[in-house]
Amino acid sequence: MRTRAQYIEGLAKKNNNLYFNGEKINRLDERQEATINVMGLSFDAAWDPASKDLFTATSHITGETINRFNHIHQNCDDLHKKQDMTRFLSQKVGGCIQRCMGVDAANALHAVSYEAQKSPNAKTAYHDNWLKWLERFQTEDLVASCAQTDIKGERLKRPSEQTDPDMYLHVVEERSDGIVVRGAKVHISEASISDEILVLPCRALKKGEEAYAICFAIPSDYEGIKQIVHLHGTRKREHYIRGIDTGYTDSYIIFDDCFVPWERVFLCGETLHGGISALLFALFHRHSYSGCKPATLDYVIGLAALAAEINGIEKSPHVRELLSKLIMTGELGYAAGFTASSLAKPEVYMPGSGLVPYGPGNYIPNSIYANVGRCLTGEAVFHEQEILCNIAGGLPATFPFEKDLTHPETKHLLEKYLNRNPKIPIEEQIKFWLTFIDFGLSGSTGTAQYGAYHGGGSPIMEQIAITSQYDIESKKDIVRAIAGMTPRPKKK
Ligand SMILES: Cc1cc2nc3c(=O)[nH]c(=O)nc-3n(C[C@H](O)[C@H](O)[C@H](O)COP(=O)(O)OP(=O)(O)OC[C@H]3O[C@@H](n4cnc5c(N)ncnc54)[C@H](O)[C@@H]3O)c2cc1C
Repeated sequence: MRTRAQYIEGLAKKNNNLYFNGEKINRLDERQEATINVMGLSFDAAWDPASKDLFTATSHITGETINRFNHIHQNCDDLHKKQDMTRFLSQKVGGCIQRCMGVDAANALHAVSYEAQKSPNAKTAYHDNWLKWLERFQTEDLVASCAQTDIKGERLKRPSEQTDPDMYLHVVEERSDGIVVRGAKVHISEASISDEILVLPCRALKKGEEAYAICFAIPSDYEGIKQIVHLHGTRKREHYIRGIDTGYTDSYIIFDDCFVPWERVFLCGETLHGGISALLFALFHRHSYSGCKPATLDYVIGLAALAAEINGIEKSPHVRELLSKLIMTGELGYAAGFTASSLAKPEVYMPGSGLVPYGPGNYIPNSIYANVGRCLTGEAVFHEQEILCNIAGGLPATFPFEKDLTHPETKHLLEKYLNRNPKIPIEEQIKFWLTFIDFGLSGSTGTAQYGAYHGGGSPIMEQIAITSQYDIESKKDIVRAIAGMTPRPKKK
C-alpha cells in the first residue's frame, strides 16, 4: 500500500496532458491541491490504526493486504464495509470522497471480462488481461477513475444512428497489436489526479454496434488522450481557516485516434457484455452512493442544526420537521444500501431470464435496493438546499468577504451586526457561515449538486432499472387474491 506522499510523488512524474482554462497545467498545479488533498485521505485512512481495519482488505488474487478501494468484493460483508468506509470518509469532507469510481468500475469489469472471455469470437484473453491489470492496480495501490459517459449527441438516436459517429467512443481500427479508438468521455471525475482510467460503454448495445462495445484501461497521462479539466473548490481563506481544504476535478477526455494495446483491452465487440458492463458499473456506483449520500446528509443535518442554533430557532416546530426530513432521507438511503449489500450475490439481471449467475463469483449488490436508495437520495439534493435556505435566512447570500471581516475599520462593526447568538463567540459564528456558504452558495455548489443528482445515471435511469426488474406482477396477484379475482395463470 502507498502513503499519501507516495501517491503525490507518482502524480509528479506524470506526463502533461491537462488543459485548464487556456493553460496546460501539471498534476501538482496549486489549483489541483485541494482535490489531491481529498484523495489523500483514502491513503491516510488505510494507515491510520483507528480506521485501517475498515480501509484495508485481503486481495483474493495475491493474498496481500490492499486498500479496500482496490478490492474485488468477495462476500456481503465486503459490500457492507465499502458502504461504511465511504460514509466514514465522506463525513470528513462533507461530500464526495472521489475514489469510488475506480473500485466500482473494477468490480464491474472483473465480472464482465470473465464472461466475455468465454465468447467464441473473443478478440483477446479479456479476463487474463484484466487479472494482470488488477494485480498491478492492487499491489501498486493505484487510483482509477471511470470513463463511462459518452457525449451522446442526438439524445433520441442510438450510437449507430448518430449523424456524427464519434458521439459515442468506438473502435475505428483493429490492428494485430491493439485497437484505435475515437470519441470523448465527459464529466470524468478525478481523471486529472488518477493513475489509470477505466473505460466502458454507457448504455445497452445491440447487434451492429460491436464497435461501441469496448472496455479498456489507459494511464491517465497517456499520450493518446487530452484532458480538458474542470476544477472546482472552495474560496481560499487567510484568516478564518477551514478544518480541511476540499476541491474536486472532472475532465472531458478526448480520444483522438488513441491506440490501446490488446493487453489493456477487456472487451471488444461483445455487445451483450458491453451493455452489462454499463449496467454493472452503474449498479456498483449507485451502491457507493448509499455511503456518500448519507454522509453528505450527515453534514447537511449538522449545517441545518447549527444554523438553527445560531439563529436561536432550534426549538421551532418547523425546524424540527425539516431536520426530521433530512434524517429520514439519509438513513433510508443508508438502509437501502445496507439491504443491497446483505442481499448481494454473484448474479445480474437479464431481461426475460431474471437474475442469472454472472462473473467468477464476485459479489454484486441487489439492484432494486441499490437503485431505490440512489434515486431517493439523488432526487432529494435540491430540496436539501431549500431546507438549508429556509433555516439560514438570507444571511449567507450576501455575507461579507473575508477581508472586510478582518479590516480594522469594519471588523468590529461587522462582528457586532453579524452576531445572532450571544452564547456563541462571533468568530465561531463567522467560521460557520463561511463554511455554510462553501457548501450551499459557492462556485462549486452547482457542480456538486448536479453530480449528486446525475452521477451514476440520471433518476430516470434508476427508475427504469427499478421498474424493469421489480416483480410488479406479483403485486397485482396480491390484489387479485384480496379482491377475489381470478388468479393469474401459473407459468408452465
Ligand atoms: C459532477 C459530475 C460528475 C460525474 N462523474 C462522472 C464520472 O466520473 N464518470 C462518468 O462516466 N460519468 C460521470 N458523470 C456523468 C453522469 O453519469 C451523467 O451526467 C448522467 O449519466 C446523465 O447523463 P448526461 O449528463 O449526458 O445527461 P442526459 O442523458 O443528456 O440527460 C438530460 C435529460 O435528457 C433525458 N434523456 C437523455 N436521453 C434520453 C432519451 N433517449 N430519451 C428520453 N430522454 C432522454 C434525461 O432523462 C434527462 O432528463 C458525472 C456527472 C456530473 C454532473
